[in-house]
Amino acid sequence: MRDDNRIRLQLRCRGTVQGVGFRPAIHRIATNLGLDGWVINDPQGATMEIEGPAEVVNDFLARLPVEMPPLARLERIEQEERDPLGEEGFEVRNSTLGRRQGALVPPDALLCDDCRREMEDPGDRRFHYPFTTCTNCGPRFSLVRALPYDRERTSMGCFPMCAECDREYTDPSDRRFHAEPVACPQCGPELWLADGQGERLDGGDPLVTAREGLLAGRIVAVKGLGGFQLACRADSSEAVTRLRRRKKRFGKPFAVLVRDLEKAKRTVDMDSASETLLVSPRAPIILAPRRDGAEVAPEVAPGLDDLGVMLPTTPLHVELLRDPQMPPLVMTSGNLSEEPLRRGNREAVAGLSGIADYFLLHNRDVVRRLDDSVVRTSPRGPALVRRARGWVPEPLPLPVSAPAVIVATGGHLQVTACVAQEDQAFLSQHVGDLDSVPAREFLGEVIEGLLDFLQVEPAMIIADAHPDYPSSWMARDLGDRFGAKVMAVQHHLAHVAAVLAEHGRFPGPGERCLGIALDGTGWGPDATAWGGEWLALSGGLEWNRLGHLEPLPLVGGEAAVREPWRVAVAALQRQGEDQLVALTPMAAQIEKTSLATMVRLAADTSWPMASGAGRVFEAAGALLGVGDVNRWEGEAAARLEALASRASGTPESWPGLEIEAMDGELLMPSSRLLVEVARRAADGEALSSVAAGFHATFCRLAADLTARVNGAERGVVALGGGCVVNRILSTCLAEELEDLGFEVLLPRNVPPGDGGLSYGQAVFAAVSRARGVEPRQVD
Ligand SMILES: [Zn+2]
Ligand SMILES: [Zn+2]
Repeated sequence: MRDDNRIRLQLRCRGTVQGVGFRPAIHRIATNLGLDGWVINDPQGATMEIEGPAEVVNDFLARLPVEMPPLARLERIEQEERDPLGEEGFEVRNSTLGRRQGALVPPDALLCDDCRREMEDPGDRRFHYPFTTCTNCGPRFSLVRALPYDRERTSMGCFPMCAECDREYTDPSDRRFHAEPVACPQCGPELWLADGQGERLDGGDPLVTAREGLLAGRIVAVKGLGGFQLACRADSSEAVTRLRRRKKRFGKPFAVLVRDLEKAKRTVDMDSASETLLVSPRAPIILAPRRDGAEVAPEVAPGLDDLGVMLPTTPLHVELLRDPQMPPLVMTSGNLSEEPLRRGNREAVAGLSGIADYFLLHNRDVVRRLDDSVVRTSPRGPALVRRARGWVPEPLPLPVSAPAVIVATGGHLQVTACVAQEDQAFLSQHVGDLDSVPAREFLGEVIEGLLDFLQVEPAMIIADAHPDYPSSWMARDLGDRFGAKVMAVQHHLAHVAAVLAEHGRFPGPGERCLGIALDGTGWGPDATAWGGEWLALSGGLEWNRLGHLEPLPLVGGEAAVREPWRVAVAALQRQGEDQLVALTPMAAQIEKTSLATMVRLAADTSWPMASGAGRVFEAAGALLGVGDVNRWEGEAAARLEALASRASGTPESWPGLEIEAMDGELLMPSSRLLVEVARRAADGEALSSVAAGFHATFCRLAADLTARVNGAERGVVALGGGCVVNRILSTCLAEELEDLGFEVLLPRNVPPGDGGLSYGQAVFAAVSRARGVEPRQVD
């Protein structure tokens, strides 16, 4: 029956529309409305043709955005009218292959409630099955080898579906229609338990034995979605200490896995925005203040007030915590300290057999190694600290469309890589510190993986300006291999660019912006270590250093980064106040002779100088006795923050300290600030109050400096750098700056520290390419 009112539209959908139940949703809406046509996945995303009476087609268009499945992100629809064909019925067609041209796969997502219910239903065929998944949840990026996203191009390709799964997979009205990782106990991956040497233990339910082992204080290596994790009960000091000793990870906090939201709320103090994130498909680790009565041993996060909590994200995690009496579990990456996660069964057993008592193994491959993401709560809203599972490969915005494909290789610590293509930047998952060879290999793997996934070759490579970072060598190698131009970007400029770009506020041509990078260490063009920088940046990529922290000597070079007490002594010595050293809590932790030697060494004027804000915070921590040595990056500063958070009342900024002008430069008086810390501690002021006063004074001075370098002008200030993770610092400084009339941008979806560096580098490169300009330092 033909109808003159009939129209046919072709709709090309862009965004995350594969692997999210997009086609079934289209099928459902179209068949409900009695429309005819088809839908297909293609290299650009998904395309459909729909045909029917004009008003019904319009109804379809109105329902489309509202009835999207939870994981879909529809970025754009291109629409074109076609001649009606008069076909009958609506069909879901198989994918067309081809070079990827914009199609995206979503990040891995938290197990959904429907799947969870099935796992808890004794009558369901997936009762307790630890690989249960559907169209709305489960692994995506971690198991996809190539696009378009179809089962044969995932690590599920080697598991032929049983008849029952096949029926679910091919029935457009089933909630597992085209759920590529669909599986059941008959046809899907199999779980088994092995002993500490990797020998398979047969007999009994592997999950029951694993849970009993955990309850008995054993360490279990669990093959998760993105690689191996190590688990032990978090409420046992003995178990946690054993894990630390075997893993050689001392001091650095562990995250804990809790059974449900109620337990999470009893463990940490979350605001509603963080709670929403915790239960969202992204399901990150939430870093929030520990609550009294949390069932977590102090060894989990020694010296810190925050705890990282996460919910079971996969069916396997749900099964591990099935019994209500299961205590929270420490969940940490399955590696030796500072190495990347182990991936394969054999590789994991080889690397972890001295650490784990049991291995919970299965026969599904981990295609991409992926850590858990970490979000920290803050009065200004939750902010990402580590970006991995749940976020990657979701693209970030670019201020311009990149005329060529760009690869950015990051810095040296907490490294990520970034690939920019057109107006999207793909920030990789967290790789980690590049001190070890396996970590460097992981970075290479991540870059190859991204290029492969996007099916592009780079025309431009960008690295940190530090010539000797392994990531900089890697950039040069990539440049040679692809015949691509290699460009370097100053570390703190990249931090500032990342914040501006994330908020869509990178300066346009002719515009100028202000950025403050409060960071550890980064290569400065004057060959000193920068790290507390006030920078102006124009849309033409001209930049200048407007002000900075007073540089302090790194007595003993790199050793001073690991041992902040050296910087503390040097600061007091510089102000002729070294007699204070013996009166601070630090004197109880460092041998008298070492302190005396350090005072003498600090008088030497040939030590390398560093203006890093991290150094000043850590030195203050050392003076107050909460961190003479950094066992992990920023430890002393994190402990200082924890100390400050215990202070009562509102801290006042200390009088008598002002911004200084030295050789025509404006400086924050770091050494005088540290003298004040030492003097107050020596005078017997409560240490938490000194720590809080230090934060308040630092922020007041930083705001003053911002106003001074900017003249009468106000406008946007971007705050970036690793120190911005500090909740007290970022909140207080933002308030001070806003009181002065600035608009403050803080990192949200990109880690403020070096985890966001590669994104800032890619932003710089894209702007450089699009505007035909090069970064240039001007006075
Ligand atoms: Zn599900
Ligand atoms: Zn099956």
